[in-house]
Amino acid sequence: MTEGMKKCPYCGEEIKEEAIKCRYCGSVLCGQQTSEYNRAYNAFECNDAFAEGPEGKSRGVTALLAILLGSIGVHYFYMGKTTAGIVFLLITLFTCGFGGAVVGVIGLIQGIMMFGMTNQDWRAKYILSSATIPF
Ligand SMILES: [Zn+2]
Repeated sequence: MTEGMKKCPYCGEEIKEEAIKCRYCGSVLCGQQTSEYNRAYNAFECNDAFAEGPEGKSRGVTALLAILLGSIGVHYFYMGKTTAGIVFLLITLFTCGFGGAVVGVIGLIQGIMMFGMTNQDWRAKYILSSATIPF
């Protein structure tokens, strides 16, 4: 990527780092508020942990679910990664809860890491990823 440039999260075109509006697709980015939709999107772009991204999911909600209910895969169900959620759930059920301690710790670590990453990194790693079980 060219120095001083970033990628538009909507269309993927290269735009200036300081751009608040994409000159290709017209999407409003961080720092400018125009409509209800853009306000929600801007908060996500500005890394507000509980702002919903374009898919309607928030990093903060996912992290809390991972920490509190990770052993039954609720954070994966929330993110739309149903297979991963079922795997976590089945591990817990079929080991009478013993495996749940293990996947629960995995969920706990995932949740803590999610709080430490940016919305963009979280979205790329968990939402946009084609992995069946994105760790
Ligand atoms: Zn764009």
